[in-house]
Amino acid sequence: MALPEKIKVGPIILSVIATPDTPIDENGLHVLGQYDSLNSIIYILSTTNYQVQVESLIHELCHAIMDESGLAHNKQPVNVNDEQIIQGIAGYLHQVLMDNDFSFVRRQKSKENKEE
Ligand SMILES: [Zn+2]
Repeated sequence: MALPEKIKVGPIILSVIATPDTPIDENGLHVLGQYDSLNSIIYILSTTNYQVQVESLIHELCHAIMDESGLAHNKQPVNVNDEQIIQGIAGYLHQVLMDNDFSFVRRQKSKENKEE
């Protein structure tokens, strides 16, 4: 299993780049992943195990969603409260995505398309 190369978030298509070079955040800290909002890229450290990469991708995806939805308090550097909210949501979202079958979302979408 490999991470997707592209993920669509609203109108934006994000590139997902798995890299062995440790991403460094806006505070100069080494991190497992980083969302580059200017270039629409999510960097994920590829030297960790797959589940950690998936968890990091979901976390960075939450940053992208918060940014795109206008919910981020300020873009750079990430607000401490935003980081806490994202850590909480991303952790549970990862669990929910793992523990449930979300194929119903796609079935609903294709049904709607046929009705149009
Ligand atoms: Zn974060």
